[in-house]
Amino acid sequence: MCGIFAYLNFLTPRSRAEIIEILVNGLKRLEYRGYDSAGIAVDGDNLVADGNGDGQINGLSLIKRKGKVQALVDEIEVVQDTLDFTKAFDTHCGIAHTRWATHGEPSWVNTHPQRSDTNHDFVVIHNGIITNYKDIKAFLLKKGYQFESETDTECIAKLIKHIYDTHKDRSNVSFRELVEGVIQQLEGAFALAFKSSRFPGECVVTRRGSPLVIGVKSKTKLATDRFPILFSKGMP
Ligand code: GLU
Repeated sequence: MCGIFAYLNFLTPRSRAEIIEILVNGLKRLEYRGYDSAGIAVDGDNLVADGNGDGQINGLSLIKRKGKVQALVDEIEVVQDTLDFTKAFDTHCGIAHTRWATHGEPSWVNTHPQRSDTNHDFVVIHNGIITNYKDIKAFLLKKGYQFESETDTECIAKLIKHIYDTHKDRSNVSFRELVEGVIQQLEGAFALAFKSSRFPGECVVTRRGSPLVIGVKSKTKLATDRFPILFSKGMP
């Protein structure tokens, strides 16, 4: 069983080093569940770190490794020269994942986060199985999307980009509405955490079947007002 972990520091300055440390510690606490690979996404310079990272300006950075969380930690040490770890963020969303492969062998490209495109408009981590992913993938292939992994999860990252790109009111649509549009199309079990360069500092999480815990730490009520939790009809 995989583990998903997200950390959002809202108006609470944290350095990139602190954020990554929290994400890695979150993954370490989930290691007992079993997994075959690990990865994180943070705001950054669109780095894709597998030991051969390329670089573009802005966007999100993905750091992923097949194997243990320790292998991910080793990779993070390698990219310290590329990403400025002292950079501070007032608000930032980081997501982290340990994968237990169900669709596609354990490999770098199948490791989460999975991405919508090479610009990392949307990235997602997933616990579970999407049973209708072949239908969604066939639809997206017809629309011209190119897939790089064998995972069921990649269709989620590409579907949210498709919904965003074809939305009639793109400048007003919220990240949450996009995710709601995606999960209406999904069958199976999932806990998902989304991050997007289009919605900096925001994280949307959702679940059906798979477990998900949300923790909010705040000195004021303001924070809980800021993090709406919505239930679908029929849920207690
Ligand atoms: N089905 C997804 C995959 O194979 C997620 C597996 C998991 O829960 O780790 O990538």
